[in-house]
Amino acid sequence: FLLFGGFASIFIVAMIMRQSRKRLSPLSELQIAVRKREFIVHYQPIVELATGNCVGAEALVRWKRPDGSLVRPDLFIPLAEQSGLIQPITDQVIDAVARDLNELLVQYRSVHVTINVCAEDIKSGRILEAVAARIGRTGIENRQIWLEATERGLLDIEEASRTIEEARTRGHKVAIDDFGTGYSSLQYLQNLPLDTLKIDKSFINTINRQSATSSVVPHIIDMAKALNLSVVAEGVETVEQAEYLIEHGVEYGQGWHYGKPMPADIFIAYLYENMKR
Ligand code: C2E
Ligand code: CA
Ligand code: CA
Ligand code: CA
Repeated sequence: FLLFGGFASIFIVAMIMRQSRKRLSPLSELQIAVRKREFIVHYQPIVELATGNCVGAEALVRWKRPDGSLVRPDLFIPLAEQSGLIQPITDQVIDAVARDLNELLVQYRSVHVTINVCAEDIKSGRILEAVAARIGRTGIENRQIWLEATERGLLDIEEASRTIEEARTRGHKVAIDDFGTGYSSLQYLQNLPLDTLKIDKSFINTINRQSATSSVVPHIIDMAKALNLSVVAEGVETVEQAEYLIEHGVEYGQGWHYGKPMPADIFIAYLYENMKR
């Protein structure tokens, strides 16, 4: 009977623990994940379209649950941004880049990694200190770390300008991400000291489906050129899209046609196979 009682109470405790785990709110779960440093980074190759040579990668965060499963960023980034957890997550991303790619980036100075920066971190400039604190003590050079922000992050032109100017003074490059999906895009383009424009994949999608004449892609490219910005096409999935972009003078691209986001070791192997020699 005693033995049975022991088992029963273990059973009951286990049930209660399961229940209480279940009752955790998404925010509490995310807080625990931040504390336990459960965020890792996958790297998506960025290639020179004309040659297929890999020139760098975009760092894309994933939440690795204790069971090994990966949670996509769109499922937790919005909550992280609302709750102020995006800052420690961004820091874990920068730490991951420094850990995963230090050796590679020291060996190949022309390779860069681009990091997604949230609106708050552009506004406050916090991103610059976060990068300096985490990259400064590695062998990685500032010019190998690029920053990308969406239009939402650039809403306040004055504050955004200050951060971008300072980033460029330190040697980073700065890109506008998801270009064309926000509003007042043209005003930002004219007034911000950017280096690069990333055309959102929703525009690249239209390349196969619409006749070339009705696509806005050539106009975005012309505008970027007039403003002296380099262009990266996102979401390049087909050879037709790649050819169209090359014909229209786009230099760089990323997308499934070249490679999906991949763990660091796979990316390093990819880079060795696909870099300019
Ligand atoms: P994004 O910055 O626009 O990143 C590109 C997204 O497009 C990635 O989704 C990538 O996997 C996906 N993608 C790339 N090539 C293709 C393609 O050829 N076809 C299709 N259909 N999709 C493609 P992912 O990794 O799920 O990231 C989603 C979004 O989450 C990112 O969109 C970015 O806004 C955000 N995010 C990711 N990592 C971070 C981060 O470290 N910090 C912040 N603040 N946001 C992040
Ligand atoms: Ca991005
Ligand atoms: Ca994007
Ligand atoms: Ca996007």
